[in-house]
Amino acid sequence: MQIDIITTFPDLVNHFFQFSIPKRAIEKKLVVVNVHNLRDYATDKHKKTDDYPYSGEAGMVMMIEPVDNCIRYLKTKTIYDEIIYTSPDGEKFNQSIANQYSLYNNIILLCGHYKGIDQRIRDYLITKEISIGDYVLSGGEIPSLIISDAIIRLIPGVISDETSALSDSFQNNLLSAPVYTRPATYNTWKVPKILLSGNTKKIEEWKLDKSIEKTKTKRPDLLE
Ligand code: SAH
Repeated sequence: MQIDIITTFPDLVNHFFQFSIPKRAIEKKLVVVNVHNLRDYATDKHKKTDDYPYSGEAGMVMMIEPVDNCIRYLKTKTIYDEIIYTSPDGEKFNQSIANQYSLYNNIILLCGHYKGIDQRIRDYLITKEISIGDYVLSGGEIPSLIISDAIIRLIPGVISDETSALSDSFQNNLLSAPVYTRPATYNTWKVPKILLSGNTKKIEEWKLDKSIEKTKTKRPDLLE
């Protein structure tokens, strides 16, 4: 899979992919992440990517020309399944969308900034708008990283034990069962006995029971 991220803060985005599971996925060549500096596609001598809004209110708006130049250039090299703009008024991101995107070959993530982007980019250049929640951030970089991270960990082979991603919360509309590690007793706090029994079938049943119990208590809406 290839993820192309368009941003005015490439360092911020690049840094993230130098750690943990996303880093390993790139090293294993299971995903290619290309970070594009929007300024490289600006045409004026100041490399300007934003301008004042026509409506006269405060704040800057990202201009259409650099975004169009960048997307048009990327499309000469790659066919994209989706060109996504991260936006607080987009469709709410969730695990089911992450699953769907993890099957795609190529996507673009466009990070907005300031007051947002020229509406014509949304009307004519992108194919999808995704929100990561009902709150407003300064830029689309963190949303793009969240979306990338959620997708990458689902690509087969990225997580060494493949079933590990499948037993995560939300994968089957259940929250994940509690997890424990050594020591078996800390102070007087003990790991549930069943987990030390070595009986895999019983452990699986326990995990499912705990998942259902936790979901009922914390997120009953998932069971509806
Ligand atoms: N004025 C806009 C918010 C702009 S925030 C509005 O009221 O809708 C600046 C940029 O941050 C946006 O262009 C978007 O790319 C990103 N962003 C902010 N909050 C986000 C969220 N919850 N989900 C996805 N992207 C978000």
